[in-house]
Amino acid sequence: MKRNHLIKPTLGQHYPTISHGIGVYLYDTDGNPYIDGSSGAVTASIGHGVSEVVEAMTEQAGKISFAYRSHFTSDAAEALAKKLSDLAPGDLNWSFFVNSGSEATETAMKIAIQHWQEKGFERKNRIISRWTSYHGITMGALSMSGHVPRRKRFVPLLEDFPTIPAPYCYRCPYNVEAASCQLQCANELETAIQRIGSENVAAFIAEPIIGASAGAVTPPLGYYPRIKEICERYDILFIADEVMTGMGRTGKMFAMEHWGVIPDIIALGKGMSAGYTPMAATMISDRVMEPILTGSKSIMAGHTYSANPLSAAISLEVLTYLERNELVLAAKEKGDYLLQKLQMLARQFEIIGDVRGKGLLLGLEFVSNRASKRPFEQQSGITSRLVTKAFEKGLLIYPASGAIEGIAGDAVIVSPPLVITKEEIGRLVEILGASLEELQ
Ligand code: PLP
Repeated sequence: MKRNHLIKPTLGQHYPTISHGIGVYLYDTDGNPYIDGSSGAVTASIGHGVSEVVEAMTEQAGKISFAYRSHFTSDAAEALAKKLSDLAPGDLNWSFFVNSGSEATETAMKIAIQHWQEKGFERKNRIISRWTSYHGITMGALSMSGHVPRRKRFVPLLEDFPTIPAPYCYRCPYNVEAASCQLQCANELETAIQRIGSENVAAFIAEPIIGASAGAVTPPLGYYPRIKEICERYDILFIADEVMTGMGRTGKMFAMEHWGVIPDIIALGKGMSAGYTPMAATMISDRVMEPILTGSKSIMAGHTYSANPLSAAISLEVLTYLERNELVLAAKEKGDYLLQKLQMLARQFEIIGDVRGKGLLLGLEFVSNRASKRPFEQQSGITSRLVTKAFEKGLLIYPASGAIEGIAGDAVIVSPPLVITKEEIGRLVEILGASLEELQ
């Protein structure tokens, strides 16, 4: 007898079979509806089943779906690159297309190193990141990630890049109250650079809002301006990993706009194609490109499917749809509404220690004692139990737990598609509340 050989996330577990999706709802083949309260993995930002995207997809597939980037450019890829540079702040005018967020951050890392090499600084090749972060699953991206469970098995193979603490205000690493915060966590970057020597550091990478490793951890207002100032003072590139936060998710097209900071390199993914195709990008500023344009003229990265016309046409239509329907503004307005609702839930359920995030990238952190902020014991499995309960009741939420072993434990991300209505938010929160109720 042949067995089913599809490797699923947890082997031996039953997964329902997806049938189709409409708006914020997914339906399995038994007809059960699910509210996509996490947009999958914070991806399906324009919702499911958008006919304009299907039409763009069909039209491009009818012309050409793949032509190798070493042989041809395409109207679709050119138009997408133009669209991105029109949307991006400052002189972030260049796009390098890849297929996943991991490839986007890994390419960002490589471009930063290449930038310095082409300027004659061969030793400037270390990347500083933050502990409590997730930049992707490939070896370079994982080397930059402080995500314990995803690193554990591969530690001997990972590049030993330096890290600094994250701006995790709910559990401030310095035990400082907001009123007396001197941004010590940002100043740690300067300490790290001085320790390693700026002549050895290519770049600093950070997620504007920390996603998978901690659940929408959002830094204070002055944090990124201070980070950028330190990067400039020591001639170090600043890479913003906007894979989760980019393309409107937080109520701004790029989350870094909340802090008024323009990075040197941006990594994009997820919302860029809203799940309609694997598509991601590394965006690069004129300043960073300059020595490459006058030097080797070639970025040493890329994949077979990089910039393929089909994915480019799909992504272009997704971004056009986002603009046409003013979904960035919707993310802010619906996000404020959802945040209020989640704060109401927090008043009802003692185990919710913190509610945080921006726009429609919101997080809940769970504690066994609200006053002391004591995390749950690891074996309690609170997050996975909640995610499972919600799933059974027809709500998808995203677990963001366990990455901060020894510091904190349990969080979920609530990040529905930006097209969600207030009524649908009401239903989402109702199911979340019912799921929390059953955990008591
Ligand atoms: N960077 C961030 C901030 C992410 O949240 C993720 C995925 O969750 C990645 C990179 C990796 O993206 P992918 O899973 O598409 O490789």
